[in-house]
Amino acid sequence: MPLIAHASGGLIDSTLADLGIGASWQSVHRVRPRVALCCTACGRSMHAKVSPLGLRFFAHDAAQRDCPLNGETAAHRLLKSAIAAAVRRAGWHAELEAAGPGQRWRADVLAVSPDGSRRVAWEAQLAQQHVDETRARTARYAEDGVEVVWVFDRLVVDDLPAVTVELDQHDIQVAGPVARLVVERCPPEKCSRYSDLPSRPPCPGHGRWEAVTLPLDVFVGLICRDDAVHTVLPPADLSRREPTAPRFRGFTPRRWWTSPAYLQHADTVRHAQADTDASMTDLREQLQQKQERDVRRQATAAARRAKEAQQHEARVAALLERQQQLQPIVEREVNERTGTTPWVLKGDPEQAMGVSVLCGSLVVAVICPVASRITTDIAERLAEVTVYVASNHEKRAIASLCRPDQRFVVVSDPSPGHA
Ligand SMILES: [Zn+2]
Ligand SMILES: [Zn+2]
Repeated sequence: MPLIAHASGGLIDSTLADLGIGASWQSVHRVRPRVALCCTACGRSMHAKVSPLGLRFFAHDAAQRDCPLNGETAAHRLLKSAIAAAVRRAGWHAELEAAGPGQRWRADVLAVSPDGSRRVAWEAQLAQQHVDETRARTARYAEDGVEVVWVFDRLVVDDLPAVTVELDQHDIQVAGPVARLVVERCPPEKCSRYSDLPSRPPCPGHGRWEAVTLPLDVFVGLICRDDAVHTVLPPADLSRREPTAPRFRGFTPRRWWTSPAYLQHADTVRHAQADTDASMTDLREQLQQKQERDVRRQATAAARRAKEAQQHEARVAALLERQQQLQPIVEREVNERTGTTPWVLKGDPEQAMGVSVLCGSLVVAVICPVASRITTDIAERLAEVTVYVASNHEKRAIASLCRPDQRFVVVSDPSPGHA
């Protein structure tokens, strides 16, 4: 049931206050005698009607199965009427059920810019239509240089230039897919993009796409002002915030409507990020070199510690070997000198880890004490006994820490290699 009809005065449009012909609705609605009206599509007779919600339209006098305007629901009429009103508010001309050359297309609302340079067909498609049919109709508009916007009440599932609306009696909202760019900046010195650097540059900004819902009027205005493009959004951290209605949840279209200004701003932010990244290259390289130097230094220190541990072990082993070799010789000498059989305390901490040789409870000799362990107290104790060493070299090392009158015996080593 259409919103327009032919009358004797010309085409009349129920969405216009003067019906487009300078006449009032009262002059066609419920008047006697009846005003002759006929359908723009099938030519059969019609009459003016008002829906329970107050929307004006025209109805065939008798049901016409074959009329292409049949089957329009109240929601469809409401939507077409709202689109036409929004187009007119944007300062454009709106023609309802406008037919293209040779009947190639019939637009629910054909919007024409004031200078006539742009034509936009608005198609309120609330009934199911196969996607191939929608594509074919879109192509026919394109051939005639007419832009098209499909208005669905269901999900937009492909790349067609379409929006999904939510209708209720008072309000029509475009639920998507419409995105806006939100640019956020980190606090000074705190940019998350450079959290690995010790001193952070000023934040170049972070772009995030956000899904928005907006009144149909506003969306029609954006299209008329050429302030909405249907495109694949460039990378930004597009937050996958879904359209508000529950039936749209979990659904992310590939193409979105957005403003060219947002696309340009996204570009600006990306360039600013690239520039800041480039200016941080030197700093990042210096940081990396320092880290590499630290790693090398740590490796060198670890190697040195390992070598020192090895040398210490070797020194301990050599000391034990010397003490072991000297022990029987010293025991024999002590026995010859005192006539008693001495006994030994190996690794005696009281005698700087030397082997203490005792007669009864009295220390009479110490074999190879460790020079670095000799304290003043130990030097006092060693002064009371004879210190046995394996070489003059060892004697000099120990003597430098003992009292000047320290007694030494250098035992020439019986085994080869120890002079
Ligand atoms: Zn008809
Ligand atoms: Zn930042």
